Amino acid sequence: MDYISTRSINCPKISSAEAIKTGLSPDGGLYMPEHIPTLTNEELASLYDMSYPERAAKILAKFLTDYTEEELLADTAAAYAPERFSAAPAPVTALSDLFILELFHGPTCAFKDMALQLMPRLFSRALIKCKEEKTALILTATSGDTGKAALEGYRDIPGVRLQVFYPTDGVSTLQKLQMQTQEGKNLSVIAIRGNFDDAQNGVKAIFSDPAMKAELDKRGVFLSSANSINFGRLAPQIVYYISAYCDLVKNGSIAEGEVIDVAVPTGNFGNIFAAFLAKKMGLPIGTLLCASNRNHVLTDFLESGVYDRNRPFFQTISPSMDILISSNLERLLYLIAGPERTAAYMKNLAEHGAYRLTPEDFAEVRRHFVGMYTDEEETERTVRETYEKQNYLTDPHTAVALCAARRYEKIRKAERKMLVVSTASPYKFAKTVTHALTGNTPPDGIEAADRLHTLTGREIPAPLDALRRATIRFSEVIEAPDMPKTVLHFAENQ
Ligand SMILES: *Cc1c(COP(=O)(O)O)cnc(C)c1O
Repeated sequence: MDYISTRSINCPKISSAEAIKTGLSPDGGLYMPEHIPTLTNEELASLYDMSYPERAAKILAKFLTDYTEEELLADTAAAYAPERFSAAPAPVTALSDLFILELFHGPTCAFKDMALQLMPRLFSRALIKCKEEKTALILTATSGDTGKAALEGYRDIPGVRLQVFYPTDGVSTLQKLQMQTQEGKNLSVIAIRGNFDDAQNGVKAIFSDPAMKAELDKRGVFLSSANSINFGRLAPQIVYYISAYCDLVKNGSIAEGEVIDVAVPTGNFGNIFAAFLAKKMGLPIGTLLCASNRNHVLTDFLESGVYDRNRPFFQTISPSMDILISSNLERLLYLIAGPERTAAYMKNLAEHGAYRLTPEDFAEVRRHFVGMYTDEEETERTVRETYEKQNYLTDPHTAVALCAARRYEKIRKAERKMLVVSTASPYKFAKTVTHALTGNTPPDGIEAADRLHTLTGREIPAPLDALRRATIRFSEVIEAPDMPKTVLHFAENQ
């Protein structure tokens, strides 16, 4: 299957391996498969008795057609191996009123692992399939979760080096410690004096600088990206929706063919868009509930058909959803409106920070998606009440979706069963969770994790617990204008 740009029909079609290697289309669009493959009822039923890696290989084979199923199975088996995921990779837990799909059992305790444990392996194969002889240098600016998950995923992957930039005062103590203590020979972690935008703009400037490209070329290096604009990060996320459905049928929670709703805590629209692709393939999903925090640009969009990023930005207790430009929404627009109108919408977004859907496009979006947002107080209350009433400990991102799901179920009178996606371990945001439960905030992340453990008796995930004994390897702090120099220096020392 070929891949095409979301913005033009004239852009050359490329293979799945090339789409993964390249990331972004030259016209600024995102790559999408030419058509969405279907999953028949028989195929779905054939997945019931398979392991997670086997299910993943079967589903990915439909999208990544120039990888063999053996290659995919070797990669999924390694990515989702028991030593990387403490429990099953994507288990479903039943609460009294809904189901929770837990995606935080990987090495960095956030759902980014589901994609970033697998994508580096696909990327490495893509380099070989595309006969790429240069070394890939992946640059990432992070506000916390993506950087750590990319570091774990790309560590010691052949033919690839990764450099991560984060704002020195813009990530949580645990997130910083996770990155500073990262192991692996092909990695670099650099703190920037400034905020996330400074880091992000610095990376973007390096990507678009021809002089940098020439300098790196001389050193046998080309640049690539690890964020969710790459289809290689999206494809692995389709799998867990299908896998969760299989598990629910298998344990008798739902009937075969029963339609369920899905609630997703959303930032960049990657995770929920993967659920939409699963629905398009034929998985019986009804409503896709897009849950936002105080930065509710998506809720407003789903209510009005107007996307408008011109608004204040809030730093919230669910920081991984603090986003005003949800990049993957472009892929939904493409499927609904086609490349020409998508290009026009994106042009308006770039020039005015806003666009308005046509009534037909808006009606189609509304056929699948509902948006709801939750403020800070409600988020904390949801963490507390879910623990006190249901004995289930949840992180603030998941709480945003739980709160939306419960409100929606009241409106819909729980017509259909609801699957809520849980995106992080409560221990990763231990300070906020402790505050939600007790009203006090411990000053330090590890201390908060210990408090939470004493309070609830829940085990601290091993990768977070190990941080108290880990050695700091990366402590360099630079000024943002020094980023190009730092990148060249890293590219030289191979
Ligand atoms: C990245 C992230 C999200 C948002 O996911 P998107 O795919 O960007 O919508 C939600 N919760 C957590 C914990 C995350 O790390």
